[in-house]
Amino acid sequence: MAILKVARLGHPVLRQRAQPVSLEALSSAEAQRFIDDLIETMREYDGAGLAAPQVHRPEQIAVIEVQANPRYPQAPHIPLTVIVNPVVTPLTEETEEDWEGCLSVPDMRGMVPRYTAVRLECLDRSGQPVDIVTKDFFARVIQHETDHLNGIVYLDRMRDLTTLSHIAEWQKHWLGIREQSD
Ligand SMILES: [Zn+2]
Repeated sequence: MAILKVARLGHPVLRQRAQPVSLEALSSAEAQRFIDDLIETMREYDGAGLAAPQVHRPEQIAVIEVQANPRYPQAPHIPLTVIVNPVVTPLTEETEEDWEGCLSVPDMRGMVPRYTAVRLECLDRSGQPVDIVTKDFFARVIQHETDHLNGIVYLDRMRDLTTLSHIAEWQKHWLGIREQSD
């Protein structure tokens, strides 16, 4: 397995619409190895999720996992989920604002409104159909990662940019946690 290079904001691949993956391509050893690398890269950088365009590959594949993540210490557990060719449908008009970050927008946090419940229809890594209803944080991460497959980053979803913060300032001023060097 390999740690892949993460594209940062400004790289055109992050603004492209990702291509659907055929069942044949998905079942190839190369695609399966890529999914393993995507998972390993997400874990290496403590991401809550990672989408293929973020590692310079504009295909409709994303991975999500949260367990004892130091970047999101308050976040609830999310099992490892591989998402291929997703369709996300909001199940409510209700949105909630919460903090998000992104490995492609390093060291920043911002308040982003998201639907509190969404239906996710997609394929798993073996090509089996998945149809689940998710809520709250899981629904938030799904919306963030599937946005990447449509060339959208969380900054585009913010209602205003006044909460956009460098992580060090965010910890000081928004979370009330003082830096150790302070
Ligand atoms: Zn992201």
